Amino acid sequence: MEATIECVQGNIASQDDLDAVVNAANARLMPGSGVAGAIHSAAGPALAEECRPLAPIRTGEAVLTGGHNLPNRYVIHCLGPVYGVDEPSDKLLANCYRNALALADQKGLGSVGFPAISTGVFGYPAEAAARVAVGTVKQALPGLESVKRVRFVLFSEADLAIYQSLCG
Ligand code: ADP
Repeated sequence: MEATIECVQGNIASQDDLDAVVNAANARLMPGSGVAGAIHSAAGPALAEECRPLAPIRTGEAVLTGGHNLPNRYVIHCLGPVYGVDEPSDKLLANCYRNALALADQKGLGSVGFPAISTGVFGYPAEAAARVAVGTVKQALPGLESVKRVRFVLFSEADLAIYQSLCG
């Protein structure tokens, strides 16, 4: 079966038809602002408890936990690069997408949702980040066994338009 890439505008914490969603995490894997805030508040405090012994993680790394009260069985936590600080930022950002997909595939998952990692408080410009995200996913998907559906979940209409133009 051909793998598909979808782009939607929405909240990463309310994607109820995906096996896993990706958290734009901080190194300590603790609740924060943006995506990490939305995921931890929807998952409940047991997520932070499960995360504690897995932290800290390195830039570009991905780790997997349960989804707790989220509608998804799993959360894959990725630490994106801080733009202008963690270099080379494009390689480190690509590692997030590649490592998250590899973990999902190892678990035998069929579908994964990604936010626009690093484009919030970490300051990565939206269009440059989108090129890395879409390019890396397109490159990785044919080599995966179980992952057949990847969804980019964008918060803003402007970000959705960028992803749609790259995914088309
Ligand atoms: P980072 O620290 O990796 O920059 P952020 O969580 O600050 O991560 O932001 C990453 C991107 O996710 C930003 O473009 C932000 O607008 C977007 N975002 C924030 N909250 C949500 C959410 N609930 N669902 C999807 N995207 C979100």
